[in-house]
Amino acid sequence: MDYHLSRRDKLRRAVKKAGADALLVTSFTNVTYLTGFSGDDSFLLVGRDNDVILSDGRYTTQLEEECPGLEMYIRPGGQGMFDAVAKIVGKMKAGRLGVESQSMTVSLYNRLDKDLAKAALVPTDGLVENLREIKDKGEIAATRRAIELTERGFAVLRATLRPEKTEKQVADELEYQMRQFGAKSIAFPSIVAVGPRAALPHATPGDSQIGDSNHLLVDWGANEGQYNGDLTRVLLTGKISPKLERMYRVVLEAQRQGIEAVRPGAVAEDVDRVARKVIDEAGFGRYFGHGLGHGLGLDVHESPRLGVSSKTVLKPGMIVTVEPGIYLPGWGGVRIEDDVLVTRSGHEVLSDVPKSFEESIVG
Ligand code: ZN
Ligand code: ZN
Repeated sequence: MDYHLSRRDKLRRAVKKAGADALLVTSFTNVTYLTGFSGDDSFLLVGRDNDVILSDGRYTTQLEEECPGLEMYIRPGGQGMFDAVAKIVGKMKAGRLGVESQSMTVSLYNRLDKDLAKAALVPTDGLVENLREIKDKGEIAATRRAIELTERGFAVLRATLRPEKTEKQVADELEYQMRQFGAKSIAFPSIVAVGPRAALPHATPGDSQIGDSNHLLVDWGANEGQYNGDLTRVLLTGKISPKLERMYRVVLEAQRQGIEAVRPGAVAEDVDRVARKVIDEAGFGRYFGHGLGHGLGLDVHESPRLGVSSKTVLKPGMIVTVEPGIYLPGWGGVRIEDDVLVTRSGHEVLSDVPKSFEESIVG
């Protein structure tokens, strides 16, 4: 089955509904989603009955391999993207050309608006992103592969952890291991944060040593080519204080309840609220300063967002992270993150890395 063509056919209906004859897809990630093309610098025009990808000579061979059957327009040397767009739009006779508000540049918009005499521009918002929320079988399988690579890398990290290693060394080794197991790249720069550094939700790995504190936060993920894993664990590496144990158990319980609330028909903000309530009631509410989770797909952070005032209704096929946290400035932080698929009957947790309090104690 041609997933990409069926995605473009679904998009065609959405474009029509948005009042446009065609859509100029300028987000490279959206182009990948709609065509399978893994390169950059290429736009896609989705018309009423045909599609054209606009690229340049560097990508001819790659396009033939990755997108058999898709019409391509290779810009001759010296022709800018703008002129290529104008030419193909003219040929398609799209009187109302949809454009992607989130990715089109103001400069391209202004030029098209001025020079495309026969076409009116119709700004659209999230047409492709909405389709991307629901993963098909191929995407779910790819995400499972990415998560498996993510897990295997972490198993090595855990087995080889030493007090004298620095955050940077641990992060580098983790990323190397994921690649060794088959990851194409990393999903995002790993966070490896010791003790007080773990209080920064987006700490970058530095020179702190694992033995400098009693806990280590690792937020990491593998990319299998297109799809991503995104997990967080906290390892307890030294003498555990009652405060740390309490924080850990509260976050774990918040995550458990958050995951339980993931099911078709649930509203994203309600799932967030369930987990947030656990942390609030334990007295840590002001130390949980981010949303509960996010969609996971071609982008590590994509729609839907699980957070305060997110009205998205969860549907089967969505993959979201559930990642509550408590961050005490200058002291430390605990976050636990898993990747969860919304199924017809509820949910399936796709990731499986030990996380009970006892299992998090190292050494
Ligand atoms: Zn993460
Ligand atoms: Zn995440």
